Amino acid sequence: MDLQLKGKVALVTGASVGIGLAVAEGLAREGASLVLCARNEERLARECARIAREQGTRVLGVRADVSRTDDLAGLAARAEREFGGIDILVNNAGTGSAETIMEAADEKWQSFWDLHVMAAVRLARLVVPSMRKRGGGVIIHNASICARQPLWYEPIYNTTKAALVMFSKCLANEVIKDNIRVNTINPGLVMTPDWRKSAAILSKDQGITPDEYLDRIAKENAPIGRFASPEELARFFVFLCSPCASYCVGSTYYVDGGWLRVVE
Ligand code: NDP
Repeated sequence: MDLQLKGKVALVTGASVGIGLAVAEGLAREGASLVLCARNEERLARECARIAREQGTRVLGVRADVSRTDDLAGLAARAEREFGGIDILVNNAGTGSAETIMEAADEKWQSFWDLHVMAAVRLARLVVPSMRKRGGGVIIHNASICARQPLWYEPIYNTTKAALVMFSKCLANEVIKDNIRVNTINPGLVMTPDWRKSAAILSKDQGITPDEYLDRIAKENAPIGRFASPEELARFFVFLCSPCASYCVGSTYYVDGGWLRVVE
């Protein structure tokens, strides 16, 4: 299927590793030009150069912390200056948390609110005017199955991701008249370096190897019995970014190997 993404400009946040990197590579493979951001400039620059070399597409890396208003303004300005605007925004940057509600301070809530929710709000305000001028666009929010089915150890993550899903729906209603399609993807277990790092620590307490720990998590949670690879998930992101998904508006799609325990 021709996904009709040649010549499109896509901005992916948190794109130097994991899911964001796989989405960026998937879009590049379809001929899109890329604006990628992350905080660690060295890793970002390395991945941008590699994608440009391997896919023969234009890739601009911009160091930006999406939880900071000024960084977002700078990011959007660079995209505007170097590409004349963007057609696709993938709000992917995010991370898990670990706390109890009784112990977590306001500052922690605020930092996750800025990272998961305000980044999407602010980027929408920055890019929608440019998408309007270009005749339309696509915005995808990467939330999590935890927005619907919370994990016990991360209430701040669960709550802010749930807010992101609602924001996505509201934005979808507001901008579809401008031919801008907004949707959310709620992934389940996706094997990224973050999971490997946690497994290396947590498996020690249980006297098992990191791989055994990860296998146990997958078997206990997802009926499919394994993690997804970032590439496996990225294919769905790329499809939703494509004009081939033209009737997909304001929805939340689960890509979770069957982990969600209710009918949506
Ligand atoms: P990783 O930790 O593997 O990668 C996160 C990426 O985001 C990195 O490129 C990181 O680079 C960047 N990043 C982190 N914080 C910021 C920030 N404040 N500003 C800009 N960039 C940032 O994460 P995953 O690929 O696992 O997760 C990506 C998204 O998918 C997250 O939103 C996560 O909640 C969601 N998700 C992940 C699941 C999983 O199982 N992996 C399941 C469900 C949802 P740098 O550190 O240099 O900034």
